[in-house]
Amino acid sequence: MRSTRLMKKWAGRLSILIALFGLIPTILQGEESVASELVDIQLFIPKIQVDLKYATTDNFTGKIVYNFNCCLLLKEVALGLCDVQAELETVGLGLKIWDGFRPAAAQRKLWELVPDERYVSDPQKGGRHTRGTAVDLTLITKNGQELLMPSDFDDFSEKAHQDYMEASFEAIRNREFLREVMERHGFTNLPTEWWHFDLIGWENYPPIDFTPQ
Ligand SMILES: [Zn+2]
Repeated sequence: MRSTRLMKKWAGRLSILIALFGLIPTILQGEESVASELVDIQLFIPKIQVDLKYATTDNFTGKIVYNFNCCLLLKEVALGLCDVQAELETVGLGLKIWDGFRPAAAQRKLWELVPDERYVSDPQKGGRHTRGTAVDLTLITKNGQELLMPSDFDDFSEKAHQDYMEASFEAIRNREFLREVMERHGFTNLPTEWWHFDLIGWENYPPIDFTPQ
């Protein structure tokens, strides 16, 4: 119900966003594909924090992977995150996003550096972030401080795994709380990355051929 109300509330603004950013509806690729649009998450949820690691050199590659600094996600993802953020605010927390939509060229660049499907999607298969359905995020306090987690972002070790239990009690509790809240609002977690979530049904959305300017 909340999502339906938000859809109505944002319907007008979404068309403005699409006009502003020249955002494109995805191209239908087969009967099971679903058409949708990308939205700028910070315009959609102003209280959400965005720190796009791949737009800077502060990531595991040490290189800038893409040259834009707004976090785009499909509107279905944005609506789910809106509910997650609202629930978190009731306990004095919020979300910080590290990555959202990635253009195909950025996905290829990451795959060249880490050709391991446990951590990076094979661009030949379309990828997850290239569909606008995947988001990398963590929990923060209302003052913007990151909560303790079992590993840093993009730690390609077992510390990043959802079933890693050697971390502190506090880190495990925070990881599990994040997963539970996200699952309550339509997302599913990648077992090898505690920070990565996909919209349920992400496979039905095609990769989006779009490069933000
Ligand atoms: Zn991810």
